[in-house]
Amino acid sequence: VSDTLRDSAARDSRDIERVKAAADIVRVVGETITLRPKGREFVGLCPFHDDHNPSLYVVPGKQIFHCFVCGAAGDVLSFVMKFHKMDFREALEYLSQRFGVALAPRRRTTLTPGTLSRSDLLAVIREAATYYQQVLAEPKGGTAAREVIRRRGISPEMTNLFLLGASPDRWDGLLSWARQQGISESALVAAGLVKPRESGNGHYDLLRNRLIFPIHDKAGQVVAFGGRRLREDEDPKYLNSPETPLFDKSSTLYALHLASRAIQRERTAIVCEGYTDVIACHQAGFTNAVGTLGTALTRGHARELRLRCERVILLFDGDEAGQRAAERAVPIFFSEPLDVRIATLSRFTDAKDPDELLKREGGDQIFRAVLEGAEDLLEYRFNRLRTRLAGAGPAGVEKVLMEEVRQLGAMGLVASSPVRRTLIEKQLAELSGLDLRTIQRLVAAGRDLPPSATPIADDHSALHRAVLTARESLLGCVLCDGALWDALEQSDRDDLEMAAYRWPVLNVVARRVVRQVALGERPMMAALLAEDPAAHEAAALLMSRVYEETGRGARLREFFTGCLRQARMDRLVAGARRMESVSDRIDQMREIRRTHGADRRVLPRPRPG
Ligand SMILES: [Zn+2]
Repeated sequence: VSDTLRDSAARDSRDIERVKAAADIVRVVGETITLRPKGREFVGLCPFHDDHNPSLYVVPGKQIFHCFVCGAAGDVLSFVMKFHKMDFREALEYLSQRFGVALAPRRRTTLTPGTLSRSDLLAVIREAATYYQQVLAEPKGGTAAREVIRRRGISPEMTNLFLLGASPDRWDGLLSWARQQGISESALVAAGLVKPRESGNGHYDLLRNRLIFPIHDKAGQVVAFGGRRLREDEDPKYLNSPETPLFDKSSTLYALHLASRAIQRERTAIVCEGYTDVIACHQAGFTNAVGTLGTALTRGHARELRLRCERVILLFDGDEAGQRAAERAVPIFFSEPLDVRIATLSRFTDAKDPDELLKREGGDQIFRAVLEGAEDLLEYRFNRLRTRLAGAGPAGVEKVLMEEVRQLGAMGLVASSPVRRTLIEKQLAELSGLDLRTIQRLVAAGRDLPPSATPIADDHSALHRAVLTARESLLGCVLCDGALWDALEQSDRDDLEMAAYRWPVLNVVARRVVRQVALGERPMMAALLAEDPAAHEAAALLMSRVYEETGRGARLREFFTGCLRQARMDRLVAGARRMESVSDRIDQMREIRRTHGADRRVLPRPRPG
């Protein structure tokens, strides 16, 4: 047995060496995130933490990558495993296919229940995709689906590229085929392809009598299916596979594996609503188009896009549903370092979707105009605000404005850069006809609204824009270099631990740092981060801010000393303020009495001295 094990280990290690020799790390990483050369290395936004300044380094000479913020590091195989969430074998097979390296043959994995690995699930889905393609090609069984493809004007090239298929008008088409292939029903259930009958007796196909759109993950592997009905009276019109260990709807973009390179090249992604829209875009040469899978846009989507480009055009048909989707997209993208635009088809054409438009004579010209006429996300929002303000009376104006300020606040306005914030405040002033100071007071007041009113209060992507306070910077310094902790006095440490931070997650970070020190260790990212992903991201972000601020750590000590001085000063001032606030309140009450007439019953007499 040990001989066989040693043999297979040797075989594996030869395979690994050959794959690593063939798969250039710059190419592999560069296909997934945008890399820019920097000296002898390449840098890009790290996909493993919430990165806003490029902190991922790829070193071609050593064939390794390394993130100086979150510490992610490794070779080409570990990158693929981490990025595509593959296990080792899967990553090896993936790269070997991509780079044409033949691996030593292995025992075929049997698809038995209970022991399904990711590769097993992928194999089941791959087989199912083949089956659906076969059905589409059947002279009789595929007729209805081929007719839809013909009517939609989808070319044979696109049909092949997107691996379109069809499911038969039967309850057990896939089931009985799978049985012949020796694929168990439980494997099909795990892959989200069949469902148990309510009677408890057997299973049935999830997608019946539908045109099948395989859904790929970003690595280009089929992980799920979307199905469009072939009979108009069948509901729903579109049906997707359920989420499985392979398929996470909220971070999957349709056709991202095909569009990724074009998105990087054009530095722009077009986000469509439907499968056929995406296919029509690709067919017309707009190969940087992707689609959402019938869900609203999520932060997961935004993150995938941010790694690849700087501009995102959200394309909507212009019907009410599209408008609502646009509205929901605003808070998702507001705090991302992305130039986001909304393109509304109905402003340029009577075609009801991109699919219809692109099939028309000269449709691609109009489509280009739609994209070029896309409105900046904030502009879009302000136009809507303008409409609402126009219809409101004086009391209504205040209400609408406060609501807008509250929502912008919730999206991170107060924490955004001073330039952006001032621009927005000016816009609001202009729209409402109020002066800038009034608006700024409203915005400042909006800051104090309870956190429950801020749906994305837990999000700390605002953290990357905010001007850091001395205390926040100090925390970042200590994370960058644990040795700095020794330079703090007890009162400084108490302050770091007990302070109420603007982002509650920083309280978690601070407490963890202190706990670590109490255990006799220097504050270290790695230990902090293993347990709490939110704290991890916040700490990583804080570190990267300080790192950048100090010339990649070169001036860390100077910066630290300055922050420490400032933090102590802040504490003194805050203490003095607390003393003052008592006399402030007395002054306020005097003012109220002066303007509203005295009501002595509710006003305490100021105490002398
Ligand atoms: Zn990182």
